[in-house]
Amino acid sequence: MNLPILMYHSVKPQASAHNDLTVTTAAFQAQLQYLNKRGFQTVTLAHVAKAAQGRARLPRRSVVITFDDGYAALLEYAKPLLDLMGFTATVFVVGQALGRHNFWDEGKGLAREQCMTRSHLAELQGAGWEIGAHGLTHASLPGLAAGDLRRETEEAKHLLETELETRVEVFSYPYGAWDAAAREAVRQAGYVAACAISPGTRSVTADPWALRRVYVKPTDSLGDFARKISGWYLAFRAWKRR
Ligand SMILES: [Zn+2]
Repeated sequence: MNLPILMYHSVKPQASAHNDLTVTTAAFQAQLQYLNKRGFQTVTLAHVAKAAQGRARLPRRSVVITFDDGYAALLEYAKPLLDLMGFTATVFVVGQALGRHNFWDEGKGLAREQCMTRSHLAELQGAGWEIGAHGLTHASLPGLAAGDLRRETEEAKHLLETELETRVEVFSYPYGAWDAAAREAVRQAGYVAACAISPGTRSVTADPWALRRVYVKPTDSLGDFARKISGWYLAFRAWKRR
C-alpha cells in the first residue's frame, strides 16, 4: 500500500538556523489544511500494520503523522493545530528521555530541547494519539552487540509500557538507521511495525518493519509537500530505487 507516513521532529513558531528538523507552525498549519481539504484522515501505524496484513481497512485517503524524539513543545505548538483539523498523530519517544531532554544530541551544537513527561504522554493518549518507541537511549542500531540491541528495542518497550500503562506496538529507528539484525530485534521484541526513512521498498508498507516515511523538510514549499504525498510520487520513489 502507498499512503503518506509523514516524518516530523519539532514544530515551532520560528525555524532554527542550526537544524533541519524544525518545521514552522505556519508551514505545518498549511500542510494540515491541505490534508484536511483533500479529505485525508489520520490513522495510527498499528492500524496501517493491520491493514497491510488484510486484517483491517483504511479510509480511502489515509495519512499517518509521526513525530520522532517526543519533544514537549509539540503539545504547545503542534497539537492545537492538529486538534483544529480533528487529526491525531504518532509520537516516538526515547525510553530514557521521559521528562528529560535530548541528551543524545549533546556536543553536536544543537539546542537543548525538553522531552515529554509521563503526564504529557497520558494527555496525548487520552486525545487518541499513538505512542511508539524510539529506542532506549536513541543509539543508532546497526552494529550494536546483541545485548545492546535487545536493550534498545525490548527494554525500551517494557519501560514505556510500564511507565505509561499502555501497549507500545510501534517503533522508529533512531536516525532512520536499520539493518537486518536491527529489524529482527524490533520484530522479536513484539513491535508490529517500525518506521525507517527510505528503505527502498517497492511500496510504503511492503515491509512493516521498515515502513517508508516522507521527510517533511523545513524548506519544503506547500507545492513540495503536495508532490511528496501524492500517490504517483510515493510509487515513483520505489521505482527510482529499483
Ligand atoms: Zn530521533
